[in-house]
Amino acid sequence: MNDCLPEVSGTWQRVESTLRQVVANYGYQEIRTPIVESTDLFKRSIGEVTDIVEKEMYTFEDRNGDSLTLRPEGTASTVRAGNEHGLLYNQQQRLWYMGPMFRHERPQKGRYRQFHQFGVETYGIDGPDIDVEVILLSARIWKAFGISDQVTLQINSLGSNEARQNYRDALVEYLKARAEKLDEDSLRRMETNPLRVLDSKNPDVQAAIADAPSLLDYLDEESKTHFSNLCERLTQAGIQYQVNSRLVRGLDYYNRTVFEWVTESLGAQGTVCAGGRYDGLVEQLGGKATPAVGFAMGMERLVLLLTTLQATDEDNRAADVYVTSMGVETYALTVAEQLRDSCPELRIMMHCGGGNFKKQLKRADKTGATVAVLLGSDEAEKQLATVKPLRGDGEQETVALSALAEKLAGLVN
Ligand code: ATP
Ligand code: MG
Repeated sequence: MNDCLPEVSGTWQRVESTLRQVVANYGYQEIRTPIVESTDLFKRSIGEVTDIVEKEMYTFEDRNGDSLTLRPEGTASTVRAGNEHGLLYNQQQRLWYMGPMFRHERPQKGRYRQFHQFGVETYGIDGPDIDVEVILLSARIWKAFGISDQVTLQINSLGSNEARQNYRDALVEYLKARAEKLDEDSLRRMETNPLRVLDSKNPDVQAAIADAPSLLDYLDEESKTHFSNLCERLTQAGIQYQVNSRLVRGLDYYNRTVFEWVTESLGAQGTVCAGGRYDGLVEQLGGKATPAVGFAMGMERLVLLLTTLQATDEDNRAADVYVTSMGVETYALTVAEQLRDSCPELRIMMHCGGGNFKKQLKRADKTGATVAVLLGSDEAEKQLATVKPLRGDGEQETVALSALAEKLAGLVN
């Protein structure tokens, strides 16, 4: 579980505000749910035989003896809330959320015990049109951050329950023939939840099942049409994708469309965004049958991508303008406050703690400010301000106080 320090919190803020902008751009509305839920909710939705429920949940008894769990993901809570407040039945919803999730995993680069997900969930629309919208929305996020060339889209269809059942039988037969090459987890899952074996992170297991039967050969007619329709629309929209017939996702509630955005720039934890359709979950959690599709994005992985690929100093500087003064502190205070009135978009930091100009300018430099304002008795007397660019090769200049805001705006942007 990480502290988010000032050296990177500005990048987080940029990420959060850009994400908010993109979802607003598509007419999605925010939903906020509690960080703890009843343990049963996650067991019933994510599935008993999954990594999350088997070994990753932070579960505890509260004072009443009720079993509670820190949420490991956002979809189950969203459906729970939607059912509880009557948001889902017979209507369409386009929702998003952002916040901390908790999984007791082995911490490593891109994998933490408290991490943050940004996600969207849509309800009440069963056609591939909404699958495409959700994927386009995620693609627009990469575009907004300038990292479209760093991520690739993989898609697959899990089909209907019956199609998966038929596939399951074929897969189990295939796995049984290779049992000696599977690890303990996979052998257990072969019995309890064989599709999960395809999702194994063990490279030896992956190699052993390289030519496993393909789910796509077992799809029911409707899922087949849905999938080919989706592929067609993605192509029309100019979105490149790879069909990966091994993509099954680590949670039980998915059907039909599943997708992941993966990157090669982060090493082993390459999935930055993952989602799909989950038409059965609303009913399974006590609501009326409602089609649904969504995704969740790992925000740490997104921030890691940005800090790996781009200069992020700009995000994380404390100030644009640093106001220094000698002997005229009251004048300086007035000037700084006036600037905050007239330039609310600028970050204006006023030097505190005294010292000569040299010392104050050193401090100014440390804040990352682009301009310093110098105020001495001469400036105070004549209502002037001296402006000193701190980056680049601009000249120091003294201007009338009334012209200061405009001068700074020109220098900062
Ligand atoms: P993985 O295969 O990496 O374990 P998952 O299938 O468990 O992922 P999801 O439950 O689909 O992941 O979560 C969606 C996204 O959230 C992931 O693609 C990833 O970007 C991010 N994520 C999941 N677990 C973690 C974690 N422990 N730390 C940081 N990010 C995570
Ligand atoms: Mg996982």
